[in-house]
Amino acid sequence: MSLIVQKFGGSSVSDAQGIKRVARRIIDTRAEGNDVVVVVSAMGDTTDELLDLANQLTDEAPAREMDMLLSAGERISMALLAMAIDGLGAKAASFTGSQAGVLTDSIHGKARVIEVSPQRVRRAIDRGYVAIVAGFQGMSKESNDITTMGRGGSDTTAVALAAALGADVCEIYTDVDGIYTADPRVVPAAQKIDTISSEEMLEMAASGAKILHLRCVEYARRFGVPLHVRSSFSTNEGTWVLPSPDDQIKIQEGEPLEQPIISGVAHDRSEAKVTIVGVPDIPGKAAQIFGIIAGAHANIDMIVQNISTSGTGRTDISFTLPMVDGKHVQEALRAAQADVGFEDISYNEKVGKLSLVGAGMRSNPGVSYTFFEALHQAGVNVDMISTSEIRISIVTDADKLDTAVRAVHAAFDLDAEQDATVYGGTGR
Ligand code: ASP
Ligand code: MG
Repeated sequence: MSLIVQKFGGSSVSDAQGIKRVARRIIDTRAEGNDVVVVVSAMGDTTDELLDLANQLTDEAPAREMDMLLSAGERISMALLAMAIDGLGAKAASFTGSQAGVLTDSIHGKARVIEVSPQRVRRAIDRGYVAIVAGFQGMSKESNDITTMGRGGSDTTAVALAAALGADVCEIYTDVDGIYTADPRVVPAAQKIDTISSEEMLEMAASGAKILHLRCVEYARRFGVPLHVRSSFSTNEGTWVLPSPDDQIKIQEGEPLEQPIISGVAHDRSEAKVTIVGVPDIPGKAAQIFGIIAGAHANIDMIVQNISTSGTGRTDISFTLPMVDGKHVQEALRAAQADVGFEDISYNEKVGKLSLVGAGMRSNPGVSYTFFEALHQAGVNVDMISTSEIRISIVTDADKLDTAVRAVHAAFDLDAEQDATVYGGTGR
């Protein structure tokens, strides 16, 4: 008997029909002799709608209340799903994040898991119930307040539970058949990937591929939880994200052992670019600036410092950060302007980031050339560049991003002959 954690995203439970389909799927998995723990997201675009509502009332919702509000979305779907399973004759019990023992720190809106004690969940499955847990939320260990873990956080809930319960696999159900070489909504010719290393998946998720929450991949890698990303709309085998290179070889038996050079192209529209103009070019200024940003709890991404123009003794520092952090980071920097001694800040939200990811990049020369030549041929201007061992990323104008993604995807021969199937969801 194995224990499977199944996570269903918002598009899989967007209406009563979807909830019923998911309920049947869960019952089928049990009928095959497995114990099942389910994690659900909020129905459809509920989380966005709740956010829109809050924004109609205030520009600065208290973070504690925002978490109280947003956690309600998942509570609706967990209860409805439990009813649907019950209606089909099986036993189910739903649990909020805190009831399921998901304890976090106190950073509202991006809380991190500190401890998972799923005794109630364990007891429910031992008594023959399907345990359904609300995703994306927990309770602060310190304040006992309800917290949420950041957009897309239900994936992380699922993996955290899978690790704590010692589950055999964590299945992430979504509205496409798995992980693709690019977002099929932007590149219809994108191909499904059969297996991907967690190292590459980490880079893809960090580069904006929304299919898996970044922290879910980190968590799965850390605790050795195999992830299977698949569709709730079909029974097709999805994509396996494998935590260790040994598993990778096991799964690929009979197939070429050499990894493909490129695993995919990810893009991200959620970031803004900040340039701090005229920073004194002396030791300690970058530390001061990034200290201020860290104090504002913002995760920054690409950083570029331009060469100090001779004579002025000043330099420009640019970086990208999530748009949602744009306002308070600018405020924090402004407050320290005199102290740091910079001249100005410029802020631009009309940017997009494209990343090419592949472990085979390490050992294959010429990847950068093909990449930049494809962008050149497509008339895409490159604004910032950053690289890791297995990734090249650029920032360009937001309205050029789709063209850029398609051009790069084609240049690396990733286009399939048939278009990918997108079963549902708005991609919002
Ligand atoms: N409902 C939350 C969101 O839309 C969490 C999730 O879906 O994972 O971001
Ligand atoms: Mg969601």
